Amino acid sequence: MWNAWMTFSCERNDFTLGLKMHNAIDLGVIIMQNNENLLREIPHVDKLMKNELLTDNEIIKEFNIYRHEITDAVRDVLSDIREAIISGKTEKVPDENEIAQKAVNLAAERSQKGIQKVINGTGCILHSNLGRACMSQAAAKAAYEAARSYSTLEYDVLAGERGSRTFCVEAYLNELTGAEASLVVNNNAAAVLLILTSIASGGNVLVSRGELVEIGGGFRVPEIISQCGCTLRAVGTTNKTRLKDYKKAIGKKTKALLKVHTSNFKIVGFSESVSVGQLAILGRSQGVPVIEDIGSGAIIDMQKYGIHSEPCVRQSLKDGADIVSFSGDKLLGGPQCGIIVGSKKYVDEMKKHPLYRALRADKMTIAALEATLRVYFDVKAAEREIPVLSMLSATKEELKERAEKLLELIRESGGKAEIVSCKSVAGGGSVPGLELPSYAVVPSVQGRSAEGLEKFLREQQLPIIGRIEEGKLLLDVRTIFEDDFEYVAAVMSAG
Ligand SMILES: *Cc1c(COP(=O)(O)O)cnc(C)c1O
Repeated sequence: MWNAWMTFSCERNDFTLGLKMHNAIDLGVIIMQNNENLLREIPHVDKLMKNELLTDNEIIKEFNIYRHEITDAVRDVLSDIREAIISGKTEKVPDENEIAQKAVNLAAERSQKGIQKVINGTGCILHSNLGRACMSQAAAKAAYEAARSYSTLEYDVLAGERGSRTFCVEAYLNELTGAEASLVVNNNAAAVLLILTSIASGGNVLVSRGELVEIGGGFRVPEIISQCGCTLRAVGTTNKTRLKDYKKAIGKKTKALLKVHTSNFKIVGFSESVSVGQLAILGRSQGVPVIEDIGSGAIIDMQKYGIHSEPCVRQSLKDGADIVSFSGDKLLGGPQCGIIVGSKKYVDEMKKHPLYRALRADKMTIAALEATLRVYFDVKAAEREIPVLSMLSATKEELKERAEKLLELIRESGGKAEIVSCKSVAGGGSVPGLELPSYAVVPSVQGRSAEGLEKFLREQQLPIIGRIEEGKLLLDVRTIFEDDFEYVAAVMSAG
């Protein structure tokens, strides 16, 4: 498969779209006689469309290129040739196979303009620009099945009547987190929106000044609070907030105590914050619910991966939080969604709220989340199957072996590279400051700088994204799937 890709990638760089020649007729007067003869040699579109390269070609199948896209590409390639002849840049019409191949490459390039697969060599596991978590095979398959066929989305097969779309996912969530009830929406931002609107609209929400953060491109706590029809009451200071600050601010209008995990930044030095447990005691005494936006959320112990700062969902509920929300595609390693767990009283209110209908997750997400959660009941299996967990749990020795494997493949295909130790990060606005020791392959291609190589790899048909550090281009093997090693090696030999 990557063979076809390679032929294609090597050619595409020297091919430019060029301008369409709309005014060929106007220019006709000044075209010299031999140009006219050349122009007559250009094959006709209909004839080219019968060329075998345009009817039976691996690239066409691989990229799922439609017939009308090939026709467009052929027209544009021919128009480029015409223009080159008229402007005197060429004195030869390429043969039909050459034109056909160029058209296929152009159509393939155009078919990849939207979302496409990339290889992540940055070592950032939850790279938000690269789609955050990669789902497990099982989760991806479940989403595919849900998309491709009818399903029991809202149907109870045994009873033969309407059923709940999320009863299964909710049962898993309750069991895994110890929650009384749960709910799934589109993302964690939507979760917070639904929680606050349903619980605290028209009242005051108390938040520590140290937690008034902006996360993940536009999720700003103060703005979300006012969007929900609540009034923000900031308590304490940026670095220190104590229980007495909440006590002083709490009053008749207070409808919620909100705690936000400061996912993407870390205060070092003198700081103090109030635990969920302490907030819960205060909340209980005043009849005010405690809400925690836990951000990434861990549903298994993350300490063994060296992650000490991510709060555990089960613990937060145990400590007394009434409602906890987190993302599905951060450390959980599932599809993009927002998960709400906690007290049945509040969750039931949310389920009845009109916003829930607008924010609820779709069938592919529910299917994928179900498959992701199911494997969590066996942590060892989860580490094998869920890419985020495999990447987090990979040991230094395993990573070194993988780097050696990639190095060997690169050398076998005639490329040059070396191995260096490096640091990977969790990313996705989680676990700031965490650095996981890893290994990277540093390819070198004669005549190319690290920047040049970075660009070259990024411009491949299946782009490889690396990271430059101290003048070297690093491909961190922690985030590169082994299935892609052969392709990476082949690109290196072509570079
Ligand atoms: C990431 C994050 C969000 C936003 O979650 P999305 O799933 O991206 O909507 C909200 N709050 C916290 C604390 C986060 O870490």
